[in-house]
Parts: sequence; C-alpha cells; structure tokens
Amino acid sequence: MLKRFALLGFWALCGLGGAMGWQTCSLSSRQPAALPANLKADLPEARRAAERLAETLRLQTVSGQKPFPAEAFDQLHALLPQHFPETFRRLQPRRLGHSLLIHWPGSKPELKPILLAAHLDVVPVAAPESWTHPPFVGQIKDGYIWGRGALDDKNSAWAILEALEALLKTGYQPRQGLYIALGEDEETGGRNGAQRLAEQLRADSVQLEAVLDEGLAIVPGSMIGLEPPLALIGLAEKGYLSVRLRVTQSGGHASMPPRETAVDILARALVRLNQSPMPARLEGPAAQLFDWLAPEMQGLNRVILANRRLFEPVLLRQLAARATTNALIRTTLAPTQLKASPKDNVLASDAEAVINLRLLPGDGPEAVMAHLNATVQDARVQLQPLNDLATAAASVVSSTESAFFALLARSIRQTFDTSVVAPSLVLAATDARHYAPLAENIYRFMPVYLTAEDLERIHGKDERISVEAHAQAIAFYAQLLSGL
Ligand SMILES: [Zn+2]
Repeated sequence: MLKRFALLGFWALCGLGGAMGWQTCSLSSRQPAALPANLKADLPEARRAAERLAETLRLQTVSGQKPFPAEAFDQLHALLPQHFPETFRRLQPRRLGHSLLIHWPGSKPELKPILLAAHLDVVPVAAPESWTHPPFVGQIKDGYIWGRGALDDKNSAWAILEALEALLKTGYQPRQGLYIALGEDEETGGRNGAQRLAEQLRADSVQLEAVLDEGLAIVPGSMIGLEPPLALIGLAEKGYLSVRLRVTQSGGHASMPPRETAVDILARALVRLNQSPMPARLEGPAAQLFDWLAPEMQGLNRVILANRRLFEPVLLRQLAARATTNALIRTTLAPTQLKASPKDNVLASDAEAVINLRLLPGDGPEAVMAHLNATVQDARVQLQPLNDLATAAASVVSSTESAFFALLARSIRQTFDTSVVAPSLVLAATDARHYAPLAENIYRFMPVYLTAEDLERIHGKDERISVEAHAQAIAFYAQLLSGL
C-alpha cells in the first residue's frame, strides 16, 4: 500500500515537473523586434541641446512658492520661441496661465491624436549649499547638466520640444495628430496646469488615443536578477488617501494618569494597523510585469515566474520583504504625522495621527476605509478621510494591446537597443490622471536610465542628467514621433 502511494506521489511529481518544465520552455518573448532606427529628422547636436536645457534650469520655476514665481515662468516662456523657432512659427503654441499647449494636426484627421505631457515646475531645494554645483546655475560639468529639474522634468519637456523642432525642420508630416501639454504645477497637484490644459482640450472636443507622461524609466536590470536594463512603462498609478485618526479624552495632569490615555489608545490603533496590512495579491500591472519578464529570465527565476500561479505564495512573501516591491502588490499604509499634548506634564485631551495610503488598482477607497475601521476596532478612535474618497482610487489600468503601446515599446527598443521592455505600476501620482477622461490609454515613461542613486537625486540634492542621456531622450521622442 505504502509503495503504491509512493509510486503515485512519484508520478504526480513527474507530472507536475513536466507541466512546469513545459510552461517554462513554452514561454515566448513579448519584446518587439529590435528594428533599426528610422528617424524622420536630423537630431540636434548633443552639446547645443544640453546648453538649451541648462539655460532653462537657471529659471527658478519652483512649485508651492508664495507668491507664485510668475517672473521665472515668464522668462521660461520667453525662452521657448528662441529655442524652438520653427515650432512657434508653424504651430503657434497656446499659453494657458503659465502652462503651454501645442497642437500639430495630423494628415489624417479621422485618427485620434496622441498627447505628450511634461511639467515646467520643479520642487524646492532644501540645502543649496550642499550641492556639488549650485541648483539654479545650470552648469555643464564632467559630462553632466546639473540643476534642479534636470531629471524631473525639464529634461522631458525640452527633449520633446527638441524632437518636435527637428521633425518640423525636415518637413515630416505625421498622419496622427499630436498634442504637447506642459503643466506649471505638477508637483503640487496640477490644478492650474494639467487640469486646465485638460479642460481646454475638452472644450475643444478633443478625444485622445493615448497620453504619455513621466512616471517610470529605464532601470539597471541587475536589480531584479535580469541582465539587460529594464524599461518600465507605467500602465496605471496608485491611488492616494490620507486618513486622520483622532482620540479625544478628558486630559488632566500627567501625575495621575488613567489606565489608558488618549495617546495609548491612538498608539494601539496604529500598532493594529501596522500588524494588519491590506492583503497582498499579484494581479494587474504587477502581474503583467512578471509575465513580460519571465521569458527574459534565466534559471530558477524563469521557472518560478513561468509558473507564477503555482509559486504565488512564495513570490508574494519575497516581494513583500522589500519596500519597493511590497508597494507593487498591496495598498500600503504609512503613519506620517502625530500630534498630542502641547506640554510634557499635561495629558493629551486630543491625540491625532495621519496615515497616508497608496491604493492598489482594484482596492476601492470605501473598502480601504472599511478595512481600517475593522482593524482599529475601537469606537474611541475616529477615522476621517482627509481627501475626497471619490478621487482617491488608483487610475484605470491601460492596455498593453494598444497600437500606441506597441509603438512606445518599439521606439524604446530602437533607441535603447539592449533594453527589455515591461509594463508596471507607478507608485506616485503624476499629471497624467487629469487627462484620464479624454484618453483611451495613458502610459507613464521617461526615456532615461535611472540608477538607485539617480532616484535619490530626484527631489534630492545634485540632480543632474548626462549630456548623452539628454541626447538619447531627444532621439527617443524623435523616434516615437516618427512613428505617428
Ligand atoms: Zn515630475
């Protein structure tokens, strides 16, 4: 009997091994063929383009300032026609507030246009004296263009315009129309910029086939056990919700504390929330990321990803272990603010904490609130959303089957030829969401290599882009526009 069971087990294992092996071997790459570049324009000289970008980095178009730095934006708008004369002569861009909208009509008006988005504002600099080269001097040194906005996001704005200018000069005419939308306040939510640009487009009855905005980039593949660099295209961005937890008690003198103070009750609620994270799951853009990666992997990684449903519990545990990958598989929760007694010897009559949640596509804001209430399970803790639940959800997930996604993936492979392309999820918020009602699909990708060190420079110190990388970004956009 035992022998029969053992034999049965053996055959079951063989069957499973065979199925896994079959699944692993039958994977075929989803990468578009690496076609040779077919640019429809002569690209500008890298050094000249770098100088133009450096010039814009000198203008302190800093977000969230009071008063609004209108003068810096005016100077930037004055610079644009000097840098891109052909664009301004032929397309007559429209200035809306401190933002800019450019329209290049296609030769086939029945085709829905594409929109490329970028932003002209930058985040403030905390300690300018700590920078290797001052943040608003726009220096080109050691092969790099240094300054706030060099990566986020003036490089994209200028690279798009350089590509457009080059194509206009050569007399190329796209079949599909193109819009370029440059917002003025992405870093503070995009209300005056992207939202207004989107409203203008709606007023003009524009329906877009697709939008391309900043978001993900090309990362060194070795970070995830893949040899070539990995170009990640964001199909969606996570939702954003802040919730205040509030406990009110009678307060009093700290020399005679009750069994439980407002702070104790609040602390217990925060511990419960920490210990009961929202459930992890591998679906949507994160699952698609692994489906695209699997055929490019070697060895055990390939076997595991090829059979990801089978290995899901193991995979989820591994992904949950790192903050960067944990954020791909669940709605995250981070306590960010705390407030209690104003004096060291007085009991808090009012203790408050704010938690910031980033919602996974599919996790509705109401369901998240229900999870929080069920986890805290204490009527003394009042939970109140700080932003509108109606707009807190993650974005819609765009398709990898669209014509524009194929063009995007192909253009990446044509410009960054060793890269592997894969879809993924953007963890932060971008301007792109303002265009959602107008577009069938929205993609988030910035055509630059970003190492972990570069990521720290964004919103951090010593932000810079290499002269070569900026030229490559221009080549990418020229490639993309050549395909319209
Ligand atoms: Zn940005």
